Amino acid sequence: MLVEARAKAEIALYSSRMWTRGFVANHDGNLSARVSEDRIVCTPTATSKADVDERSLVVTDASGAQVSGAKKPFGELNIHLAVYRARADVAAVVHAHPPYATALGVSGRELACFLPEAVVSLGERVPLVGLAAPGAPAVSAIEPWIAKHDAVLVQGNGVWAWGVDVEQAYLRLELVEHLATIAHHAIQWGGPQPLPKEITAPLVEARKKLFGR
Ligand SMILES: [Zn+2]
Repeated sequence: MLVEARAKAEIALYSSRMWTRGFVANHDGNLSARVSEDRIVCTPTATSKADVDERSLVVTDASGAQVSGAKKPFGELNIHLAVYRARADVAAVVHAHPPYATALGVSGRELACFLPEAVVSLGERVPLVGLAAPGAPAVSAIEPWIAKHDAVLVQGNGVWAWGVDVEQAYLRLELVEHLATIAHHAIQWGGPQPLPKEITAPLVEARKKLFGR
C-alpha cells in the first residue's frame, strides 16, 4: 500500500514523464496505485497524460466503482484490478504504448532479456500476451502471466508493468522500451545474441532472492 498523497504525486509525475518520453499519444496509457485494501487512485479517462495533475485523479474502490473525481476512471481499470487481486505485493500498475516495445508486441514477438541487469529486473523474458478483445477476454489473457512476471507485452496493446510503487512500475516499463530500442538497433548487426545459460542461471537465482519470483 502507498500513502495516498505520495501515490497521487507519483501518478502525476510519471504520467507527465510517459508523455515527455513519447510513450503515449492522444489518450493512451493509464496509471493506478492501491492506497488501501479498498481504495485505488487512477488517471482519468479521455485525458492526455501531459495534462494529468493531482487534482484530476479519480478514486475507486477495489471493485472499480468510482468514489471521487470529476471524470470517469479509464476503461482498462479491470486489468489493473486483476493485477492487484493476484499480487498482494503490488501497489501500482502502469500501461503505455512505447513505440519500440509496442512494435515487438504487434509483430507477435516477446522480448528476450539480452542484458544481464535486465534479467534480474525483469526475468529472462518479457512475455507476449496474445490478442484479446477489451473487457473480460483481455483480463483472462493477461491473468496467467501476473504471478511470475512484473512486465508483459500485450499484442495490440503495448506494455503493462507493475511494482511496489508507481516509480518501480514505471521504471520497469521504461526498461522494457529501452531493451526493445536496443534490440531494434542491433538488428543491423545481426540482432541481439541470447545470453548463455551459465550467465543467466545465477541472475535468475539473484532475481528469486530479491523478488521471490
Ligand atoms: Zn493500450
